[in-house]
Amino acid sequence: MTRNEQLFEQSQKVIPGGVNSPVRAFRSVGGTPVFFSRAKGSRVWDADGREYIDYVGSWGPAILGHAHPGTVKAVQDAAANGLSFGAPSEAELTIATRITQLLPSIEKVRLVSSGTEATMSAIRLARGFTGRSKFIKFEGCYHGHADFLLVKAGSGALTFGNPTSAGVPPEVAAQTLVLDYNDVAGLERTFAEIGNEIACIIVEPFAGNMNLVKPTAEFMAAMRRLCDAHGALLIFDEVMTGFRVDLGCAQKLLGIKPDLTTLGKVIGGGMPVGAFGGRADVMDALAPVGPVYQAGTLSGNPVAVAAGLATLAAVSEPGFYEGLAARTAKLVNGLSAAAKDAGVTFCADSVGGMFGLYFAAKPPASFAEVMQCDREKFNRFFHAMLDRGFYLAPSAFEAGFVSAAHTDADIDATIGAAREVFKTL
Ligand code: PLP
Repeated sequence: MTRNEQLFEQSQKVIPGGVNSPVRAFRSVGGTPVFFSRAKGSRVWDADGREYIDYVGSWGPAILGHAHPGTVKAVQDAAANGLSFGAPSEAELTIATRITQLLPSIEKVRLVSSGTEATMSAIRLARGFTGRSKFIKFEGCYHGHADFLLVKAGSGALTFGNPTSAGVPPEVAAQTLVLDYNDVAGLERTFAEIGNEIACIIVEPFAGNMNLVKPTAEFMAAMRRLCDAHGALLIFDEVMTGFRVDLGCAQKLLGIKPDLTTLGKVIGGGMPVGAFGGRADVMDALAPVGPVYQAGTLSGNPVAVAAGLATLAAVSEPGFYEGLAARTAKLVNGLSAAAKDAGVTFCADSVGGMFGLYFAAKPPASFAEVMQCDREKFNRFFHAMLDRGFYLAPSAFEAGFVSAAHTDADIDATIGAAREVFKTL
């Protein structure tokens, strides 16, 4: 038995499923999850000492590569001055100011400790500000695990959601309307019927939780137009795309100004940080100024904020995103060419430092199309790559991430290994 296998067996006795977040258990791809013991740059090492080139990057935060020296130093320095204050500090002002400089749509911002807290709080705020209860999300988008976000489409034209988790009351799910991503007609129909009851739309501006799915310009424009026409707020959930696709985030690439934005992952540089922010008039509905309650013992934690500030400083260097996007594009183009040579139906796409791999003839535009990709082939590809020392997301439904620490040689080695694997599929 390997050390990985031993650890997994023991963990299952004391941790549900052996993991602290379900996707880590490899249920989608099968097999034993890899227990990490160390990570540096583009590499991770498992409990048996095996080295992998990592394309998960802790699910997005590790944009500079693991254990980036500047970030580690900032964390060490901050830790020496106190791990948590529970009182305001200057570093919180610094990171809030930096976020408002980088994202013109954010006039005021509040820090939390996870992406889930950010989206949960942003939706409460939108409901409190508008005085409305219903909101729209899209099938296949993930916004964390608050009750009212664990909802899938119900049946019928105007679909009120069904819970996707036990423990979510149907009455709660009924306030969440679930529409299809990129479906402009569905949006128009819904707003025509009950536009004055909708508090907000929440959307992943590039969806990264159903593989990678890009929005059409019409879809983006329709959301902005319909929210404006009906007094609803548009929330961009940029927990994944924020500072991953561009220094100005997805909203800059797409040319759309949301009312509220949620952030996480990269802004914590690997430490637990989330944020939500936007229009000052909306944000001022938050306690202690306004009537919408929101709080956190560890919010704005000085060690986490130090990691975030160091990360934001590094990604602000000139040319950072050009280099990251070029290496990510090189990876997806190389994989596509290798699959084509092997006669495998496959394509790949990227935006900034995030990418999607599809065992399908063309990139999907909706959750239904994502479900048509050949999942069984992905699983075989995943395991064959893992055996060769390449750690991809252990699910056909997740985006992948390249970091600034991935070298051209890393990318070439990945494409070379995939070339062999495609021939066996
Ligand atoms: N929103 C998006 C778009 C995400 O990708 C995630 C996590 O993957 C979340 C929200 C939830 O963030 P967290 O896992 O930090 O709670």
